[in-house]
Amino acid sequence: MSLSYKEFQTIAVGLRPNGKAFIDGEFCDAVDRSTFVSSNPATGEILAEIAHCKAADVDRAVSAARRVFNEGTWSRAEPEERKEILLNVARLVREHKNELAVLESLDTGKTINDCLDEIGGEVPNFFQWYAELADKTFGKIAPTGPGAMALITREPAGVAGAVLPWNFPLVMAAWKIAPALAVGCSAVIKPAEQTPLSTIRLAELMQEAGVPAGVINIVPGFGETAGQAIGMHNDVDTVSFTGSTEVGRLFMRYSGESNLKGVGLEMGGKSPFIVLEDAAINDELIEHAAMSAFWNGGQNCSANMRQLIAKPLVEEFTSRILERVKAFKLGDPLDPATDIGSMITKEHKDMVMGYIQSGLDDGANMIMGGGSDLPGHFINPTVFRNVTPDMRIAKEEIFGPVLGIMAMENGEEALRIASDTDYGLHATVFTQDVDRALHIARALPCGTVSVNGFSEGDIKTPFGGYKQSGSLARDNGTEALEQYLQTKTIWLHTQAKT
Ligand code: NAD
Repeated sequence: MSLSYKEFQTIAVGLRPNGKAFIDGEFCDAVDRSTFVSSNPATGEILAEIAHCKAADVDRAVSAARRVFNEGTWSRAEPEERKEILLNVARLVREHKNELAVLESLDTGKTINDCLDEIGGEVPNFFQWYAELADKTFGKIAPTGPGAMALITREPAGVAGAVLPWNFPLVMAAWKIAPALAVGCSAVIKPAEQTPLSTIRLAELMQEAGVPAGVINIVPGFGETAGQAIGMHNDVDTVSFTGSTEVGRLFMRYSGESNLKGVGLEMGGKSPFIVLEDAAINDELIEHAAMSAFWNGGQNCSANMRQLIAKPLVEEFTSRILERVKAFKLGDPLDPATDIGSMITKEHKDMVMGYIQSGLDDGANMIMGGGSDLPGHFINPTVFRNVTPDMRIAKEEIFGPVLGIMAMENGEEALRIASDTDYGLHATVFTQDVDRALHIARALPCGTVSVNGFSEGDIKTPFGGYKQSGSLARDNGTEALEQYLQTKTIWLHTQAKT
């Protein structure tokens, strides 16, 4: 059973967040001893001083990761050993879920319910799922004549870097760390500068779980310092990035300008939610429409912010969604009654408010929402209707609680407008006709299509983007392992002998 508001507040008061870097099994300051602060976006309260890692610290972390990789204590350990230790990580995260969820809620402004769902459920599940794969990832044998045996083996890539966003700090950390460690890589992780605390606490738990020194290293810092240093490092073999498309491009460049490391990119989106005229506008559809847009305050790469509704259904859809969205409660993220927390920073709030103004300037009709009088960086869930495809709010990723309703003539128009974007992360389609659902799902240029419900899938299914939402890499599923493995062929000449 979930704790009460008061109990979460008591946990918050008792927290002493650790802001140190974690390198080679030790918590430490940055080499130059510089720090920055991490604060609670809902209140402005400073939570901790954070070690400000730069190139020298990334160097230390990479050389520890390389040393342990070459020693083989983790990379060549029995797969069952890696499995047991990663299962310990899953267990410890579950045991500490309330503390981790409060820490993450304070650091991000996310609601405690979302943090608990993620940290009590998804995060340990990721560790458990990849732990179980550690001793079930097989190579292949190619068909040959009798003169050879051709073994296709999979080896860990080496030192894996990961650079993370602020919107799902621990989920994103787990998406990268769990598969990387399961196959034997060692890792250097840079959490987002806004939200380093839960990832640093995870490192403590990983050490307690038995992950050897040097296998996991955390280098908190900024993009231009620690992030770039990972991207440009000549001894990082592969880097997995989640964040904006703009920064994703830089990682491709860093790779080209350094050691041609592998680059896996998960980036932004402008995902459509399509309702065809044969769909039934019922409670379930409205719940999916509302959650697809406003979950995590809209600070979600797969948020379905373009809702493309068949013309005959627009009135009914609009009045029903309005009613549902009005029920969302904005407030203290630690209160379990809160549905929408704070935006991550003032700058981010200002950017989202700029989009709301651009919607008004472009002639869309704002039927609810706008700013908020609450102190902190809150924005009321906002709904526009009469949105047209040429408007900025219809084209650009807003990354805040701003939904645009667009009226569609037919499925063909919906498909054309849904596809007319540089992004390609996610889409939802509602229809009762399985032929239309499948045709549209196949035709949409995006990594995940969800039919008659909003879902990103789960740990078993790969997640990533087409076009400028991603590289060919995928997180989740067995596909995620590809980011952290390389393939070796061992061609054995054989002779028929007894
Ligand atoms: P961001 O790109 O600004 O930052 C992401 C990370 O990159 C941070 O750790 C940051 O410090 C680092 N970074 C910034 N500048 C850098 C540079 N010059 N060199 C190296 N690293 C640098 O993105 P954000 O604002 O933190 O996150 C929001 C974006 O992330 C949105 O566009 C969203 O759609 C995307 N996102 C995508 C997914 C996905 O799975 N596709 C998931 C979550 C978020």
